[in-house]
Amino acid sequence: MYFLYRYLLIISVAALIFPTRSDAQTRQLVQLKTVVIDAGHGGKDPGTIKGNVQEKNITLSVAKALGNMIQDKYPDVKVVYTRSTDKFVPLDQRAAIANKNKADLFISIHVNATKATSARGTETFVMGLDKSNSNMEVCQLENSVLTLEEGYNSKYSGFDPKNPESYIIFSLLQNSHLEQSLIIAEAVQNELKNGPITHNRGVKQAPFLVLWKCTMPSILVELGFLSNPTDYKALTTKSSQVQFATRIFKAFEAYKKQYDTQIELPAQTDSEGIFRIQVMSSSRELPKGSAEFKGLDCEYVKVGNVYKYTVGRFDSREEASKELAKVKNLFPGAFIGTFK
Ligand SMILES: [Zn+2]
Repeated sequence: MYFLYRYLLIISVAALIFPTRSDAQTRQLVQLKTVVIDAGHGGKDPGTIKGNVQEKNITLSVAKALGNMIQDKYPDVKVVYTRSTDKFVPLDQRAAIANKNKADLFISIHVNATKATSARGTETFVMGLDKSNSNMEVCQLENSVLTLEEGYNSKYSGFDPKNPESYIIFSLLQNSHLEQSLIIAEAVQNELKNGPITHNRGVKQAPFLVLWKCTMPSILVELGFLSNPTDYKALTTKSSQVQFATRIFKAFEAYKKQYDTQIELPAQTDSEGIFRIQVMSSSRELPKGSAEFKGLDCEYVKVGNVYKYTVGRFDSREEASKELAKVKNLFPGAFIGTFK
């Protein structure tokens, strides 16, 4: 009897400490659980080459170091590699791996090169088309990989990475996760500027095919220029490669912290805010009835420089969830957000 009493006491204390089921329902207990790390290029595709140095080996070295750091510190986070050996992986398959694993974050790692040896520094890209098209050179270079893929012409609907007109399709782009992608991209650049390559080229937007089909926040990091002698030294030194991984890991940590905290906030009620389904976000203001909305009646909320496009206004998450299932047919990356 005494033991039973003590047992009951433990249960009741536990009930005070741990949230009950109904508490759990008013909170979104979602955390960053899966990250996909994408080592650029591989196999028959060496990427950028300088002498006997090949981009594919640098990206794999940094990707693995980063994955190990995440795994060591966060054993609960699932780390998925698009490749962990020197093998060829088509661009669309890299996104498919991320989507299949329901990843919360996609990090693609690359190294840059240009004809001008003066170009140097690190930069991080998010998917999109910037008005000036100023990032086309690096973007075309990275996208040109797909011509090595068998049957690429039919697979990418005649997309020619070298032809600027091919990129017009991206003006009809849906990007559900622009603001989250920008947050992790900023975090990465914030860390990378501390070295080993300190020149910070900033966060940019360009239509990288590898990011195109990812249905989660995703970034492409260009660690530096093999064509620049100073960058070359940092890129090809093993200890510097570990340093690159450490910087990106720190950015990952900062991002995970804000991601987990943000999602664990109690769900807002209708007095504090309403639920809407976010279908995409863009740096552009789109007029009512735009083709991008696919016939849905979208409105937007502007946060910083990002327009968040939403459909519906719901008093509860449950109501929004019912509608979300339908919206996802048109916008697979759609999700429920609360708005004041
Ligand atoms: Zn590359």
